[in-house]
Amino acid sequence: MRVADLTTPALLVEAGALEANLADMAAVLPGPRLRPHVKAHKTTALAARQLAHGHQGFTCATVREVEGMAAAGLGADLLLANEVLDARRLGAVVDSGARVTLAIDSEATLRAAVDGGIREVLVDVNIGLPRCGIAPDRAGALADAARAAGLRVRGVMGYEGHLQMLADQAERARLTTECTDRLLAAHADVGGEVISGGGTGTHTMNTACTEIQAGSYALMDTAYTAAGLTFRQSLTVLSTVVSATPPAGDMPGWAVADAGLKAFGMDHGNPTVPGADVWFCSDEHLTFTATPLPRPGDRIRIVPAHVDPTVALHERMHVVDGDGPDAEVLDSWPVDLRGW
Ligand code: PLP
Ligand code: MN
Repeated sequence: MRVADLTTPALLVEAGALEANLADMAAVLPGPRLRPHVKAHKTTALAARQLAHGHQGFTCATVREVEGMAAAGLGADLLLANEVLDARRLGAVVDSGARVTLAIDSEATLRAAVDGGIREVLVDVNIGLPRCGIAPDRAGALADAARAAGLRVRGVMGYEGHLQMLADQAERARLTTECTDRLLAAHADVGGEVISGGGTGTHTMNTACTEIQAGSYALMDTAYTAAGLTFRQSLTVLSTVVSATPPAGDMPGWAVADAGLKAFGMDHGNPTVPGADVWFCSDEHLTFTATPLPRPGDRIRIVPAHVDPTVALHERMHVVDGDGPDAEVLDSWPVDLRGW
């Protein structure tokens, strides 16, 4: 099968770029220093490639991701780096033999962990992003309560998500150190062997963490490239040009591709068509201008601005060999961790 045989829009991952990203990251953060976040790709076949590069523990964002990873035989050490108020499905995963560690940030999430049959937790600490996480000075008391309730406290986690794409890298590093210091202060009260944090944008900066939760590095997107990250953009959406209007008078020509809002996560802006100027996306269309203007039937690879929500819109990820229009489709991976 060739790329030309695929129905568009279709999610493509270029095999060489993906493998280079996995190898580059494993060289910087080998083995247990990286706990890859699977929410970025939601694909157990891709997680298996990360395992092959030496990472046995994984980060998940949803109960569904934990279940799917365990069912795929990738459950040696799963961290659900998120709060849940009903952990019964996670307890069932533990009973099936997988190792599941759950983040808690309150008495309510602690109670849910106990009631659901979870045995191990991390205390999730608010280190600056107004999302989940307990205040650093209250983390020790929550850890004490967890131990009193019979849970094993493996340590702490914190996520400086607001810093990941800060354009000024020196400033990003400085602020990341401030956030990590908050995490270390909490860890002094909590104890345990795990200090988990970070993402693709700060993976070289939170050096005090025992493990980094980066996910986007494998597939990459234009937002992270704009922030100075040098991993390759291995993920694209293959699209067919369905209409083209030549220039007339003052009006430049434009072309329309068959992938729009329903094929791209748009919260980080428009996707990018290499060598072209994107005007706008609508439900099923992307309108752009380019010189020369493509013709109906031409196929283009469009680069998403934000990888995670883009992947979650697609059922499959086609692994392709190279960038050409005639590239071979090597494999087709189901995006099997989608949904809830
Ligand atoms: N950890 C948590 C808790 C996250 O929510 C995220 C992404 O949002 C990450 C880590 C890192 O992801 P990325 O590599 O995409 O920056
Ligand atoms: Mn993201």
